[in-house]
Order: sequence, then structure tokens, then C-alpha cells
Amino acid sequence: MALAQTTVFELRRILDAERVLTEKEDLIPYSFDGTAVLQQMPGCVVFARNTDEVSQVLKFANQTRTAVVTRGSGTGLSGGSLPSPDCIVLCLIKMDKILELDRANLTMLTEAGVTTLQIFDAAAAGGLFYPPDPGSMKISTIGGNVAENSGGLRGLKYGVTRNYVMGLEVVLPNGEVLWTGNKCVKDVAGYSLRDLFIGSEGTLGVVTKVLLRLIPKPAAKKTMVATFAQMDHAAQTVSDIIAAQIIPCTLEFLDRTTIHCVEDFAKVGLPLDCEALLLMETDGHPSAVAEEATRMEELARKNGALEVRVAKNDAEATKLATARRSAFSALARVAPTTILEDATVPRSELAKMIRFVADVAKKYKLRIGTFGHMGDGNLHPTFLTDERNKDEMHRVEEAFKEIFDETIRLGGTITGEHGIGVAKKSFLPKFAGDAQMRVLRELRRVLDPNSILNPGKMFD
Ligand SMILES: Cc1cc2nc3c(=O)[nH]c(=O)nc-3n(C[C@H](O)[C@H](O)[C@H](O)COP(=O)(O)OP(=O)(O)OC[C@H]3O[C@@H](n4cnc5c(N)ncnc54)[C@H](O)[C@@H]3O)c2cc1C
Repeated sequence: MALAQTTVFELRRILDAERVLTEKEDLIPYSFDGTAVLQQMPGCVVFARNTDEVSQVLKFANQTRTAVVTRGSGTGLSGGSLPSPDCIVLCLIKMDKILELDRANLTMLTEAGVTTLQIFDAAAAGGLFYPPDPGSMKISTIGGNVAENSGGLRGLKYGVTRNYVMGLEVVLPNGEVLWTGNKCVKDVAGYSLRDLFIGSEGTLGVVTKVLLRLIPKPAAKKTMVATFAQMDHAAQTVSDIIAAQIIPCTLEFLDRTTIHCVEDFAKVGLPLDCEALLLMETDGHPSAVAEEATRMEELARKNGALEVRVAKNDAEATKLATARRSAFSALARVAPTTILEDATVPRSELAKMIRFVADVAKKYKLRIGTFGHMGDGNLHPTFLTDERNKDEMHRVEEAFKEIFDETIRLGGTITGEHGIGVAKKSFLPKFAGDAQMRVLRELRRVLDPNSILNPGKMFD
């Protein structure tokens, strides 16, 4: 059943005609997100410019029991902003203003559609630092980052989006607007609703404003790349660095397949004759940075590094970091369908998990490039496949099941940063257990009794 004409009429009354898209060719770009294989046409796409418009859209949708799928830039990797049939896609990219940079309290207030990079740049222009840096930061929105509790390359030392959210303005499914959190460093008044909305994947409310914590900019940074003949040597280097009580801001790895794809794509002069590459960055006080960099280089060499290259200047450091950031795009060029996962294990189990992924690739005759946030235990096994090949897709599914079963067995999690969405929905009950599933469902029922927000996501 298509969206009723009366619904479109009312949405055009709330928002003006040009911010309500209904033509098929206009809807196609909103029929998928960054997740492979998933596609569904929405009923319409609407663009809100302020909180009041979001509130009016939700109030109307709630009264008419129309599904609403909130969307930032659509870069999600678990199908979170995939439309449900005949839904309203509520896109927030026009809510793109940074409202305040408060130097006295080290905070920034932004609308939900501001990109992560704009936030980083605005903080830097004010002499401050916003650390979370998902690989998609050029286009991902802060609303999407909050909804997914996104991580990034600096997660090891600086944490994830949650660690920088001090307050949120949220519109509830019935149109009511609430503020949770404030500029106080300490606040224990009541349950932390702010924390409930972070990572809620658009299922509990629509985030319209975000109050962010900023920190002082690190005074110095050193970037280096080490290559290894065996993945185990890279994994051992990571374990040794952590055991030496060094917390670098970045400890990322690429496997052989990914290194070759990245070099082919980004042409940054990466060494190709190796099985694993570690990107290591340390930042902070200049003397601590120099000491940590020397120690990390020693540990890499002790574990048989083939080469350790220290960036000579900022330009070279940016080039090396960009190589890692382009890993997904580089892999995506070599196969018609790229399915990226984010199995995450305790760091002590990392080497075991990497070996397991390689064995699964062999067993199911699949091509998997693996890269990720090695310091966080967060792996991105990336299946290079073709969705038109039914037999291969079946093997991909079986391989997934084995990888997630092993992840859970090793005490890990089925998603370190991309969320459940629809992609991981079937794995959640096994991971969360009955009691947790019951509480999750009940919380959702309380906040969204008519199930209008992102129905079918996370769980049914
Ligand atoms: C190349 C690439 C690299 C990536 N690298 C990383 C990475 O390093 N780390 C990482 O964590 N992720 C990464 N991602 C995944 C993705 O970019 C993040 O999940 C990001 O936060 C999504 O932001 P978005 O604006 O695109 O949100 P969308 O994809 O539009 O939405 C994501 C989810 O959030 C909900 N949502 C969006 N906005 C709001 C809002 N204002 N209020 C309530 N709910 C909302 C949606 O309904 C959906 O469930 C990467 C993706 C790509 C394509």
C-alpha cells in the first residue's frame, strides 16, 4: 500500500512542498544506506529544518501510525536507515548549524545534521579537539554518530562518541521534545536518559541537538607504519604495546589483501611485500610522544617488523592515516558487493580471531580482506563478493554465522561500532540473552508504544 495522499498533503503543509519528495527517481538515493545488499523504497522523504518541524512530523506520524525512519547521511553499515515499506524517511541533513562554541566550559552545541568533520574543524579553529573520527567523518552526521555510538581511529585512547556527549535534545515519537544532560561535568539526577538514547539507532527518539564535550588539542603527534611478515607478529606487537602501558591514539592494522587494494587506490607508497601493516600514532606532550614512539618502534622491531617508517612531517602523517581511512572504499572497488563486518573481541583474543577469520575464508572459498582497530580488538572482516552469485552468498552467510559464533565464544561482541540495524538482528538474542532482550523490548514499548520509529530494526 502506497503512502496515502492525505499523508503527503499534511507533510507538505508542515514542511513546504519542495522538502517532501515522492517521485520514484528522487526516492531511489534514499532506498539504501552504506550496507551491501539491502534496499527498500520509502513512501516519501522529508527534510526538516528545525526541532519544531521534526516534532510536527512525528506527532502526525504517531497519530496516523505511519512508520518514520530517521536518516543522517545514510553511511550506516548495519541497515539502520534502510526504509521500511511506505515509511516517511525523515532526513536531518538540513539541520546543519553549529550553534555555540563555549570556550569557558569546553563544549559545543550543534544541530544533528552537522558532519563530524565540520565539528572537528570548528573545534580545531577554536584551539580545541573533538576526537571521535569515524572513517566516514567527511559526510557522517553527528546525529548518526550519536544514534550508532560511532567509534573511530582514535578510539583506543580517546573513546567513542558516547564519551563526548554531554547533552541531547530528543523528539519523542509523540512529538514531545526533551532535553537530557547539560554543561555540568557531574550530574546524577535521575536515570541517564542521555545514555539510553546514545546508540539507540533511531528506535527511541529523534536527536535534534547535541551538546558535545571538547578537550585541549594534543601538543604533538607522531605517526609511524610498521610492516610484518606474519599477522601474529603484528598482533603480538599490539599486545606488547598495551602491556607496556602505552596507550597510543591509533593502533590500526591492514592485512595483505587490504594493503594491496589500498595502495592500488590511494598510491601512498605502502610497502607491499608483507602480510600485515600496523598504523601507530601517539599524541600528547612532546617529550611523552617522543618516548612512546621510540618504545613502540623497539617493540615492533622486537617482534620482527620488516620495516618501521616514521612520518617525517604532518603531510606524510596525514597520507599514512588517509591510507587506513580509505581501506573500505579501496576494498569496495575490487568486487561488485562488499560486506563489511565489525566483530570485536577482547584484545587478548585478537590473534586467535584473525586466524579464525582466515580459516573461515579458506573453508568457504571466500575472499575476505581484514582491517580494523587492532588496539580496540575491533576487526572489520570484509567479504569481497557478488550478490548475484547465490551459491557464494549462501557461503558468505554461513561464514558470518561461524565468525559471530566464535566472537561470542571468545567473549566478544557482534558489533563494536556499526550497530545492530537489520544486518545483525538475528544474532542479537543469542548475544544478549533472554533477560536483556525483554528489558530492551520493554524500554522500546514505553518510549514508542505505536512502534513508529525505525520498525523492524534491532529486533521485531
Ligand atoms: C566508508 C565508511 C567508513 C566508516 N567508518 C566508520 C568508523 O570508523 N566507525 C564507525 O563507528 N562507523 C563507521 N562507519 C559507519 C557510519 O558512518 C556510522 O555509523 C555513522 O555514524 C552514520 O552516520 P550517518 O549520518 O550516515 O547516519 P545514517 O546512516 O543516516 O543513520 C544511522 C542510524 O542512525 C539513525 N539516525 C541518524 N540520525 C539520527 C538522529 N538525528 N536521531 C536519531 N537517529 C538517527 C538512523 O535511523 C540509523 O539507524 C563507516 C561507514 C562508511 C561508509
